[in-house]
Amino acid sequence: MSSEKIGFEESLKSHVVDAGKCAGCAACVVSCPFFCLEYSDGKPKLIKECESCGICLRVCPRYQWNTQEMEKHVFGRQHSGNEPFGVFRRVVLARAVDEEILERCQDGGLVSALLAFALEHNVIEAAVVSGVSSEKPFHPVPRLATTREQILECSGTRYTYSPNMLALQEAAKQKKKAVAFVGTPCQIQALRKMEAARLKKYVAPIKFAIGLMCTESFTYEGLIEEHIKNRLGISPEQIKKMNIKGKIIVETLSGEEKIIPLKEAKAYTRQGCHHCRDFSSELADISAGGLGLTNWTFAVIRTEKGEKIFESAEKNGAITTKPVDKEGKAWRLLHLLSSKKRGVK
Ligand SMILES: Cc1cc2nc3c(=O)[nH]c(=O)nc-3n(C[C@H](O)[C@H](O)[C@H](O)COP(=O)(O)OP(=O)(O)OC[C@H]3O[C@@H](n4cnc5c(N)ncnc54)[C@H](O)[C@@H]3O)c2cc1C
Ligand code: SF4
Ligand code: SF4
Ligand code: SF4
Repeated sequence: MSSEKIGFEESLKSHVVDAGKCAGCAACVVSCPFFCLEYSDGKPKLIKECESCGICLRVCPRYQWNTQEMEKHVFGRQHSGNEPFGVFRRVVLARAVDEEILERCQDGGLVSALLAFALEHNVIEAAVVSGVSSEKPFHPVPRLATTREQILECSGTRYTYSPNMLALQEAAKQKKKAVAFVGTPCQIQALRKMEAARLKKYVAPIKFAIGLMCTESFTYEGLIEEHIKNRLGISPEQIKKMNIKGKIIVETLSGEEKIIPLKEAKAYTRQGCHHCRDFSSELADISAGGLGLTNWTFAVIRTEKGEKIFESAEKNGAITTKPVDKEGKAWRLLHLLSSKKRGVK
């Protein structure tokens, strides 16, 4: 872990933001003890004189990142050759039992079911998730959910970026002592760096972190405005659900279904995503992905913490599971996408 006492401009600004590598995770913004940074246009922006304390660079997933060091911090060891998608204890397909969750979720509703279960059983008081903006349709916004209804309102996937770390500020403001975190792999990486940097105010309340699998995320202006609104003629208010199953499927409130070939959508991939090396949220307590499945979530349980909450939800009947077919498409896709992101041929 770096102990540099250098400022934002000579570290993150020049080597990450200006270099086009910023993931937009907002960990630096949240962590600056002098409130020098603002989150603006998907990136950090200096709004007053930097005190050169060096904290922001210690939490950035794109600055001096060391996978081995982080794996040792989370798991006490590095991943082995038999773990091409990172350290894990169990892989399984899971789905919510609750019909209301199944109706509103993205894949099998595992994420929302675990959060609702943890809230109902007092494991957590709140969950950091991503909701939808009331001003900009289908635009994701970080949210601290404190009720089952709020968890359900935030179910489903928005494929544009939501800097969920910003909701950790709200959790600290509300003095929450037990919080679950949901985020993309870049956000889970940042969370682990914040833990390693001992930023207790934000990380001490985290009871478990669910990482979403992620190939890329797109710009709102490109995918939603330029393509869906202008090219397909669908007003963003009309989007009911979007899912990626080899292609982007846009479902509208009036029951229409439009397809966007992934090749066309690639033009809207955010710049920072091109530098990403983690598909399956390799440092999460539990990773969740769709992997081409219908109505099931592919779960990778990685830590003891993750195992405890997952098994508890399973035993109490909040989720149901079935084994992963190790000859099947989802299993192959997990290997393929993980290796591709890591740059392994
Ligand atoms: C940007 C993005 C890209 C993804 N790409 C892939 C992929 O390539 N392959 C794959 O297998 N899976 C991918 N996923 C994961 C997948 O879409 C589902 O989130 C996952 O399968 C869990 O489904 P579920 O039904 O259990 O979740 P649900 O119960 O529906 O819960 C989903 C949770 O994700 C949160 N969320 C929604 N949008 C965002 C966002 N933009 N950023 C952060 N959190 C969000 C919600 O608040 C909610 O808590 C991606 C997810 C995101 C956000
Ligand atoms: S965390 Fe420290 S180095 Fe980074 S912007 Fe704030 S004051 Fe500057
Ligand atoms: S990747 Fe995250 S921590 Fe690093 S500069 Fe970008 S927003 Fe800040
Ligand atoms: S690909 Fe996904 S995990 Fe990687 S930087 Fe983009 S949003 Fe974050």
